[in-house]
Amino acid sequence: MSGPLSRRALLTRRSAAPVALLDGAGEPVALLAHLNANCISVQGTACRLCGDPCEPRAIRFRPLLGGRALPEISAETCTGCGVCVSACPVGAMTLAPAQSA
Ligand code: SF4
Ligand code: SF4
Repeated sequence: MSGPLSRRALLTRRSAAPVALLDGAGEPVALLAHLNANCISVQGTACRLCGDPCEPRAIRFRPLLGGRALPEISAETCTGCGVCVSACPVGAMTLAPAQSA
């Protein structure tokens, strides 16, 4: 097994390892990506860094007034892989249990 990741490696890696979250019975909990208010695309800065590496194409960008765009995550398509969480430079993507969506 490899050693702990450095801070630099954590900040620059683009492919996240699968996240394992277990419920009280030890069963895997399904995770979904969620967007929070940090998103600079919603605030008017061109950014699609989370959408490009999403292999199942679960993130679409809905145009808003003023040149802004809202990332929308498809709960049906998102696998909870966490790649978008690693790709976002401002921490606007998080993973949470699918039931909390
Ligand atoms: S968690 Fe994975 S599948 Fe879901 S939106 Fe992010 S990159 Fe796409
Ligand atoms: S990478 Fe982050 S800031 Fe950029 S569009 Fe995606 S959620 Fe928004």
